[in-house]
Amino acid sequence: MGLLKKFAFITFFIVSSLAAAKPNIYILATGGTIAGSSASATEGNYTAGSKGIEDILSAVPQLGDLATIKSEQISNIGSQEMNDEIWLKLANRVSELLTKNDVDGVVIVHGTDTMEETAYFLSLVVKSKKPIVLVGAMRNADSMSADGPLNLYNAIAVAADKNAREKGALVVMNDEIHAAREVTKTNTTNVAAFASPNSGKIGTVNYGVVNFYMAPLRKHTVASEFNIKDLKAFPRVDIIYGHAQDNGDLVDAAVQKGAKGIVVAGMGNGNLYPDTEAALAKASEAGVIVVRSSRTGSGSTSVSSEVDDAKLGFLTADNLNPQKARVLLMLALSKTSDKAKIQSFFATH
Ligand code: ASP
Repeated sequence: MGLLKKFAFITFFIVSSLAAAKPNIYILATGGTIAGSSASATEGNYTAGSKGIEDILSAVPQLGDLATIKSEQISNIGSQEMNDEIWLKLANRVSELLTKNDVDGVVIVHGTDTMEETAYFLSLVVKSKKPIVLVGAMRNADSMSADGPLNLYNAIAVAADKNAREKGALVVMNDEIHAAREVTKTNTTNVAAFASPNSGKIGTVNYGVVNFYMAPLRKHTVASEFNIKDLKAFPRVDIIYGHAQDNGDLVDAAVQKGAKGIVVAGMGNGNLYPDTEAALAKASEAGVIVVRSSRTGSGSTSVSSEVDDAKLGFLTADNLNPQKARVLLMLALSKTSDKAKIQSFFATH
């Protein structure tokens, strides 16, 4: 073999083995501000979910340095339009992809409004130890200093990192890694919108450099008692928001409309206006599962109480916020209506 041929052969060998060593990451796009467009770089009004995944990827060619990427569009919506149908489609697809040997992790491009709900849902129903990472942006793709490209780069880096395995679904936003159960959106527009008020972030990711500091302990993915394979539809669960001079009308309406569960975002430690409490007690008596959560944004409603849950028939959400409690109650009710069993899900998931 001539020297030049030998050199070409060795180069080919090194390049192809380096390519083979790169993790395979599959991106599922659902829409959001990260896929949003506006008339100008300084225009605050924009339309979420208007660019396809190919457009988003072409803005970040550096993704190819981190992983071999494949992608697919699941939906293209503002995540305020998220629904059961898309959740089922998404969770089934994530499950299917993660069983494949040539998929090392999945990244879900998602709007930020309901990202925490989708993350918790996936974390509870997908049976895989492989990384599941949700990412979005607070500024649309046409905006000045759009945060989407670097968030996406960081999300791919996290999904490609072996340390992201066995942590349930993760949310990567603004250089931070959050666990699905803990994370919540805390600001309407700021790029630092995501936080985990009860426990803090579990890691950081800076220009693709990933560091984990903690792992979630509540049951998720392979240890979770829920499995997407068993799910075809969900019972209706409504959230009622407590406030001064409240009344029971919305509780009555929820029951009348067929809610099987009600999560109440109570005041303080899940406290209720007397008329609301009475309406909820009546609902509970009629077989609707009532779970007390809090509108405060952090803390547990399960550790001490001014409300006589045993007498009124109420359950408590532990430290899940109302929107997360709704996800867990919906899944719990798809399995059982036994109150003790449902309460045990809130203590473990
Ligand atoms: N409304 C948008 C959404 O959730 C907001 C965002 O993505 O930041 O899709």
